Amino acid sequence: MANLSALLEDSVEKYADRTAIVFGDTRLTYAQVDGAANQVANLLVERGIEPGDKVALSCPNLPYFTIVYYGILKAGATVVPLNVLLKPREVAYHLADSNAKAYFAFEGTPDLPIGDSAWEGFQATDTCSEFFLIRMDAKWPEPLSPPEYFAPLVAKQPPTFETVERDDDDTAVILYTSGTTGQPKGAELRHRNMRDNALSGQDLFGADADHPDTYLSVLPLFHSFGQTVIQNGAFAFGGTVVMLPRFEAKPALDLMLREKVTFFAGVPTMYWGLLAALDDSIDVKTLAANLRVAVSGGAALPAAIHKEFKDRFGVTILEGYGLSETSPVASFSVYGQEPRVGSIGRPIPGVEMKLIQSDWSDVDDDPDAVGEIAIKGHNVMKGYYGRPEATEDAIKDGWFRSGDLAKKDQDGFYFIVDRSKDMIIRGGFNVYPREIEEVLMEHPAVSLVAVIGVPHESHGEEIKAVVVKNKDHDDVSEADLAAWAKEQLAAYKYPRIVQFVDELPMTSTGKILKRELS
Ligand code: AMP
Repeated sequence: MANLSALLEDSVEKYADRTAIVFGDTRLTYAQVDGAANQVANLLVERGIEPGDKVALSCPNLPYFTIVYYGILKAGATVVPLNVLLKPREVAYHLADSNAKAYFAFEGTPDLPIGDSAWEGFQATDTCSEFFLIRMDAKWPEPLSPPEYFAPLVAKQPPTFETVERDDDDTAVILYTSGTTGQPKGAELRHRNMRDNALSGQDLFGADADHPDTYLSVLPLFHSFGQTVIQNGAFAFGGTVVMLPRFEAKPALDLMLREKVTFFAGVPTMYWGLLAALDDSIDVKTLAANLRVAVSGGAALPAAIHKEFKDRFGVTILEGYGLSETSPVASFSVYGQEPRVGSIGRPIPGVEMKLIQSDWSDVDDDPDAVGEIAIKGHNVMKGYYGRPEATEDAIKDGWFRSGDLAKKDQDGFYFIVDRSKDMIIRGGFNVYPREIEEVLMEHPAVSLVAVIGVPHESHGEEIKAVVVKNKDHDDVSEADLAAWAKEQLAAYKYPRIVQFVDELPMTSTGKILKRELS
C-alpha cells in the first residue's frame, strides 16, 4: 500500500456502502467518493498530468476537497493544498513555489470569492497550465451529488481508474506552513509520513474500523491537523466525516447532535467557542453521551478550558502536539490514562522526541532544562520543497527542530513552555507568554487572552495582555486586572499593560495571530 490513496481504496473494498462524507443533506458512500475521485484522476491524466507533478487545491471543507485530494493522489501526483483565504499574489507565489502544473479551486461564495483570487493568481504564473473551477451551480447552497458536480469537468470517462503506484518515499502532499516568519515554505510529506500518522489513531485514541467513529470536520482540511486526524484518519478506519465549511459554534453543536458525532478535534479557540455557545436550548446530555473522543492541538490548551469541557461533557480532552512538518502528530496524551493537564503527552509510537539547545546538543536528561523540541520518526517530512538550505537548518541526522521550547517530567511527559519566537525578553529576563496567559485565564472576567511583548525604552520589551472580556464582568477595569495579575506573578512577569478588545485576530486554523497585535 504505497499510495496514500489506499486509505480510501481499502475502505471501498471493505465497506463500499458505508457513509464516508456527510455535507448538508448529501450523504456519500465510500464507493461514491471513490468514483468521483476516479473522475478527477482521469481528468488529470487526460490533461497530461504525470506521476510526481504537483497539483494545487483551494477548497474549504466540502466533499470536493476530499474527492479532488484523493483524485490527485490516484493519478500519482502530489497534492498542494492551499489556504482558501490567500489573495491573488499569494496564490501566485504558492503556485510558482510548488511548481504546480494544475490547479483546482472552489468558486467560493459572495463573501469569500475563492475562485476569483485563484483565477487571478493562476493567471500571474506561467508554470501552471491547467485551471479547474469547482462550481456550485445556481442551486447553492443546496448540495449536488459529485457526478453532476464534476460533469462540466469530466466529459465522457466512466468513474474507474487504475491507481498509479507510488513509492513510500515519494511525496504525497506539500503543506505550506503558517509562515509566522519569512515566506511560507512547503513541507514535503511522503506517502508513508501521511499514512502512518493517520493510522496511529488506533494507538492514540482506540480508532477501530469495527466501531467506526463519526468525525466533525471543522478544522480546515488544507491544514495538516484536519487532513490527518479527521479526513485521512476517518478513511483509515472506515469512519464518517461530517463537514462544516467554516467553524461556527452553534451550527457545529447542532450538527454534532444531528449526526451523533463521536469524535471532535479542534484548536483551543474552538473548544472555547463551543463552551461559550452552550445554552438551555442545547441538549448537552445527548451530545456528551455520543462523544467518545475529544482532541485538541495546534496551540496550548488552557487548563480552564480543559476543566470546563470535562465538567460539561464528561469527556477528557486529549492533547496532541505537532507541526505541518511532522504530518502533524508527534506527541499525544496517553490514551486510557488521566491526561496531565498542560502536557502535550509523550511521543507517539514510532516517534522519538528530545530537548536540544541551539547548537543541537542534547539537554533531554537534565530535569530542569528548557530546550527546543526535536523530533525523529516516521512522521518527519522529507524537507522543504526546493529549499535545501532551509532543510539542512531544520533536519540533522533525521532529527527535526521544531522552534518550540519545552520541559520534560520524570515520566517522559513534555510540557510546552512556549514557541521560541514568542518568548519575551523583559529587562534581561526570559518571559514565556503562555505562563501568563494561563494565570490570566483564571480570572473570572477573562474570556480569552493573548500576551505579547511590546517595545520598551529601558526594558527592551514590556509585557502586554490583550483581553477579550467575559460579558458578565463589565465592572472589571483594565487597571483592576493588571493589579490582580501583579499579585499573582513575579514582578518581571506581570503585564503592565492590559487592553480590552472585542475579539482577537485568528488564523484560518483558529490560532490566535499574535503578530497582528501590538
Ligand atoms: P502548524 O505547522 O501550523 O501546524 O503549527 C505548528 C505549531 O503549532 C507548533 O510549532 C507549535 O508552536 C504549535 N502547537 C501545536 N500543537 C501544540 C500544543 N498542543 N501546544 C502548544 N503549541 C502547539
